[in-house]
Formats: sequence, structure tokens, C-alpha cells
Amino acid sequence: MAIREIRKKGDEVLRKKSKPVKEINDRTNQLIDDMLETMYNAEGVGLAAPQVGILRRICVIDVGEGPIVLINPEKIEESAEQIQAAEGCLSIPGIYGEVKRPERVVVKALDREGKSFTVEGTGMLARALCHEMDHLDGILFEDKVIRYIDVNNED
Ligand code: ZN
Repeated sequence: MAIREIRKKGDEVLRKKSKPVKEINDRTNQLIDDMLETMYNAEGVGLAAPQVGILRRICVIDVGEGPIVLINPEKIEESAEQIQAAEGCLSIPGIYGEVKRPERVVVKALDREGKSFTVEGTGMLARALCHEMDHLDGILFEDKVIRYIDVNNED
């Protein structure tokens, strides 16, 4: 495993659309291991492959309930109800803003063995799923910010 460099805002790779994974091989597994290590090292709750410069549809998430690896994820359901809450991104360090996200989503993806599974997320997990999947289409949370949070003025 290795920690990879997290690409920062301004890097054009973050604005490109990622391609589906066609075959899960040793390189894919190495990438996923590295993404998990990179995410935990940076104390993030999610990381998408373009954030380490790889334009493939892979995300890793851990909102404190254990790691979730998503290959070729697709949103198959989302609640009409949306929640506006604070969000940040490892590619935009130190900046936080409120974004509206569905309260609940269901995502279908492949696991590391290539088996299809679904994950249902509410609250923080729904937010992380939407945020990471946006990265696969070159979308950053700042595109959706309703209000920036001044962290220096919090108290
Ligand atoms: Zn992000």
C-alpha cells in the first residue's frame, strides 16, 4: 500500500469525467488499497479515484462504519427530501460550505470481487455517496455551495 498525492483544486484532472472500470485486476486492487490508505491518512470520509489522478469510476468511503468500496457506482434511488449541511473536500483543503443533498440514496455498484451490490445511505453516508460520485463526473462541491462557512468565525 502507498499514500498517493491528493490532487488539489485547479488540477484539471478533477474536472474530467471518469471512465467505467472494465476489469478488476491487480492494478485496480492496488489502486483501491492506496485510495483507502490515502483517505485514512488525510482523515477524510471519502475519496474518488480522480482525486489521486486516475480517471476511473471508483470511490472509497468510510463515515465511521467501516470502509465501503464502490466500483462503477450508480445512484438508483434518491429521496425527494434534501438536507442542507456542511461539507468539505480533501481536494479543497480548509474550505467548508453548505450543500443540499438528498436525505437518502440507494447506490448500486460492484465490489472488489466484481459482484453487484447496493448500499443505502442516509444522512452523512448519503452525503458522502453523492459527493464522491460527483467527483467521477468532474463535479466539485464548490459548484453546489449555497453558503460558505467561515471556520475562523465559528466561535
Ligand atoms: Zn471531494
